[in-house]
Amino acid sequence: MAISFNMPTLVGPEFQYLSEALERAHLSGNGAFTKRCQRLLEESLGAPRVLLTHSATGALEMAAILAGIGPGDEVIMPSFTFCSTANAIVLRGGVPVFVDIRPDTLNIDETAIEAAITPRTRAISVVHYAGVAAQMDAIMEIAERHGLVMMEDAAQGLHADFRGKPLGTFGALSAFSFHETKNLISGEGGALVINDPALAERAEIIWEKGTNRAQFQRGEVARYTWVDIGSSFLPSELTAAFLYAQLEAGEEVTARRMTAWQRYHAALAPLEADGLLRRPRVPQECGHNAHIYFVLAPDAARRDAALKALSAEGVNAVMHYVPLHSAPAGLRYGRAAGPLPVTDDLSARLIRLPLHPRITPEEQAAVVAALGRVLG
Ligand SMILES: *Cc1c(COP(=O)(O)O)cnc(C)c1O
Repeated sequence: MAISFNMPTLVGPEFQYLSEALERAHLSGNGAFTKRCQRLLEESLGAPRVLLTHSATGALEMAAILAGIGPGDEVIMPSFTFCSTANAIVLRGGVPVFVDIRPDTLNIDETAIEAAITPRTRAISVVHYAGVAAQMDAIMEIAERHGLVMMEDAAQGLHADFRGKPLGTFGALSAFSFHETKNLISGEGGALVINDPALAERAEIIWEKGTNRAQFQRGEVARYTWVDIGSSFLPSELTAAFLYAQLEAGEEVTARRMTAWQRYHAALAPLEADGLLRRPRVPQECGHNAHIYFVLAPDAARRDAALKALSAEGVNAVMHYVPLHSAPAGLRYGRAAGPLPVTDDLSARLIRLPLHPRITPEEQAAVVAALGRVLG
C-alpha cells in the first residue's frame, strides 16, 4: 500500500471546457475562459481586479514591479515560506528581510515586524501558511502607520478568511496559486489580485509584456505598442479552461478537504495528549481552507526518523520549507532581522500528511496508525 501526499483531481467539466476552448480557436492568453475565471474570482472575493497568471510566482513578480520595489528596497517577510515570496523582491534588486513566525500558526510574528523596519523598508509581504490567516488587523495597522505597501502571498489562501474577509483582499496586491499541489489547480497557474484600483491599468500592461494590447482589444487605443516594462505573465486558454471547472467547484473541493482535515484532527488528538506530536492550531478569527494538515514532532531528530520510517511504510509524508534565511540564496540576497528561533525550531519538526480530495478514511486511518508507531 502506498499513500500519496497529493493527487491532482478532476472536479467538474475540465475536459468539456478544454474542447470549448479549442472550438473557439483561441488558445493563447486573455480569451473567454481567462475572462470568466477573472470575473468569478473578482465576484467571489469582492476584489476590483484579478488577472490570471501562469503561477503565483509570476503574480508575486508582477506585484513587486507594481509596488515599485527597486535596488536596496527592503521587504519584510517570514523566513518560513517558499522562495518565490523572496525571489520576486530580489529580481527587482530589493532585499528580503526575514522575521520570525508565531508558534501557533507558523505565520509571520506581527510583534516582530516593527523592529525590522528601517528607512529602506518599502513593503510587508505576508504568507498565510496552510490557508490560515496571518494576524491581519495588527499587520495592516503597522503597514498603514509606517506607509508600507501590503502584499499577500496568498498562494495557499483561496477560500480562507480573517474575521470573515477573504484572504487575498487585504494587500494592495495579492497572489494565489493553482499549482497542482494547491486546493484548486490548473497544473501550473496563479492569479494577481489588485485591490488598489490605482494599480489596475499598469498591472494589465505589465501582464501583456509591457504593451497596451488589452486597451487596443477594447478599442481604447488605435494601435498597440510597447509602453512599459513587462513580461509574459498570462496563462494560455487551455490552463484557464481547466481552471474554470475547478473554480466553479471551489466550495465543494474545500468542503471535501475540510472533512479529511477534521478526520486527521480528531484521530490525532490522543497522540497529542500522549505528547507524541503537536496538532495545528487555528485561531478563532481564522476561517481556514484545509490546505495542509501538518503535525510537529517533539524534536528534529524524531521528525527526520519519522519521515524515513513513514516512507518505508508507504506513507508519503513530507517536510516543508528550509527557512529562507538559512538557504544559500537567502544568505546571499536577503538578511534575517535577528535570530529566528521559532522558525528554526518548528521548520525542523514539521511533517505534512497526505491530504487531497480523494483520500479515503481508510488511508487516513493508516497514516495515523503509522504516525503512532513511528513517533511512539
Ligand atoms: C505554492 C506557493 C508559491 C508558488 O506558487 P506557484 O504557483 O507554484 O508559483 C509561492 N508561495 C507560497 C507560499 C506557496 O505555497
